Amino acid sequence: MYICILNYIVIPMKRFFLLHLLLCVTVILLGQSTAKLPLIGISGTHATGGDTQVNSSYIESVLRAGGVPVVFPINDNPEVIKKMILSVDALIMTGGEDIDPLKNYNEEPIPGLGEINPERDAFDIALIKLALDQNIPILCICRGHQLLNVACGGTLYQDLPSQIQSSGLLKHRQQAPGWYGTHRVELTPNSVLAKILGTTSVVSNSFHHQAVKDVAPNLVVTGRTGNGVVEAMEMKGNPRVFSVQFHPEIPTSRGMDDFFPIFTYLVELASYKRP
Ligand code: MN
Repeated sequence: MYICILNYIVIPMKRFFLLHLLLCVTVILLGQSTAKLPLIGISGTHATGGDTQVNSSYIESVLRAGGVPVVFPINDNPEVIKKMILSVDALIMTGGEDIDPLKNYNEEPIPGLGEINPERDAFDIALIKLALDQNIPILCICRGHQLLNVACGGTLYQDLPSQIQSSGLLKHRQQAPGWYGTHRVELTPNSVLAKILGTTSVVSNSFHHQAVKDVAPNLVVTGRTGNGVVEAMEMKGNPRVFSVQFHPEIPTSRGMDDFFPIFTYLVELASYKRP
């Protein structure tokens, strides 16, 4: 009787133990594999009253680098924006519209200023400030590069061609394919970008007419064109926050390797936050 009872109990216990062990191992392995897929928030935009949109090149670059892209739609709810930032392991601030000079750096608009999106300005600046507060890695691209400067107290050229003598200016709005580099950018040796790319001179694409003017006190310029336009920056003492005026996501999404390390670096940083 006892033996029967013991047998009855012991066998299921063994099975239960083995099943439990198998389950634990599976959970641990799954946990490890998903931990290598950090969430990368990508700031979205919208036309007035239109759909949320993000150029697919940002999404494809994050996927190629091993991250999980999460698009953040514009909104003005502080709790929602905070939850967005707390949910991700890194942030990409994307390109887009001009930045309102009056609201953001107290300068009257000049005729060369392009389309502005006040709702997006407010949303993007909130994202950047929260991500800085939370010490989340941030890659800022084009408009994002300019907004990082503005969010930290810097100013912009509203329109390079009308604010800088044309004889000293390069063509910053290229009419070549997006993946194609058209001007040189000289990088500061030992800057995060020079280390990531393994060089101090790159040829980048260029799609902008605004540019960083007065650099915010907590940022340092790490890349310029020959005529002095600021093409890259990083945060003083924090290489987890860095920016480029050009568009590395376009060649990267086409499978080109020139600027791919920018995205693998970001995903690597993001993986550390949630090991
Ligand atoms: Mn440029």
